[in-house]
Amino acid sequence: MTDTLMSVSHLTKHFPLTEGVVFQREVARVHAVDDVSLEVRRGETLGLVGETGCGKSTMARMMVRLLDPTSGTISYEGEDVTAASGARLKRLRREMQMIFQDPYSSLNPRKTIGSIIAEPFAIHGLLGSDGARRRRVQELMEQVGLNPEHYNRYPHEFSGGQRQRVGVARALALAPKLIVADEPVSALDVSIQAQILNLLRGLQRELGLTIVFIAHDLSVVRHMCDRVAVMYLGNLVELADSDTLYRHPRHPYTGALLSAVPVAAARSTVRRERQVLEGDLPSPTDPPPACRFHTRCPKAQEICRVQAPPLTPKDGGALAACHFPLADEEASAIVPTA
Ligand code: SF4
Repeated sequence: MTDTLMSVSHLTKHFPLTEGVVFQREVARVHAVDDVSLEVRRGETLGLVGETGCGKSTMARMMVRLLDPTSGTISYEGEDVTAASGARLKRLRREMQMIFQDPYSSLNPRKTIGSIIAEPFAIHGLLGSDGARRRRVQELMEQVGLNPEHYNRYPHEFSGGQRQRVGVARALALAPKLIVADEPVSALDVSIQAQILNLLRGLQRELGLTIVFIAHDLSVVRHMCDRVAVMYLGNLVELADSDTLYRHPRHPYTGALLSAVPVAAARSTVRRERQVLEGDLPSPTDPPPACRFHTRCPKAQEICRVQAPPLTPKDGGALAACHFPLADEEASAIVPTA
């Protein structure tokens, strides 16, 4: 058994934009994800971080095959997920589950909590008897901190945090190995977010889960993740273990994201440099050539506009896609370690 549970290779997803009602003509393409390769290690929590529109949710959906890639491959325990269909895909889907961002819209308001959590059993033809299904659902409710006696209640009778617990219970129903959590706390009140994060961490330890945790907020990811992958405009720009990334960011974009994390969350009392990114995020229909970050990067030089930087190892062990990565002094001005 290898350390790698999932391997993503040159994954690309473009969405065509069309016009015309009858003869739909492609007028542009949204470059949601472009040539991303990474591995998800067994038992880890891998954070996938970036601004809205960077392609992280599209990545998440491709990983669990809710979306087909334009090109590239995903292999799960050595099996090609992108080529799977029929019974093989159904079997793979049992092992990979997703928790969605919005606990308000991801639950059917006309179904009871019990039947929502039991849905995966019905889809996969498991636990045929009503009694067995109910017992298992109530165990799951208990496991995620819900009162099992609320089995027959409806989503509107639950708070946002409780609804997200229902989403977690539904994801756990089939005893998956991999959970892809797409911004699972961003729709929740700050006071509730920590409870859901603690729940996920506890479940991961207890069940030996592997989690891909999507977020736009680096302060959330720090306490959740073993490694963090940073995306910008469809590209993977930095990948490092959590401590390395937070202490010594190498990519200027990671540096800018970290400089925006509140000081208390960065565990520092020392003055630090705030890096404000100039300009808006370019359109994913027409991303800048070569390094996509060059239109906003304070370190950009001519080569950045003509030659795409490959993702390569930098000092300290991070992988970063940058011709002029942040030096130690630049990194520590953003995230002082004192
Ligand atoms: Fe900035 Fe150039 Fe590095 Fe891109 S390659 S992040 S533009 S320094």
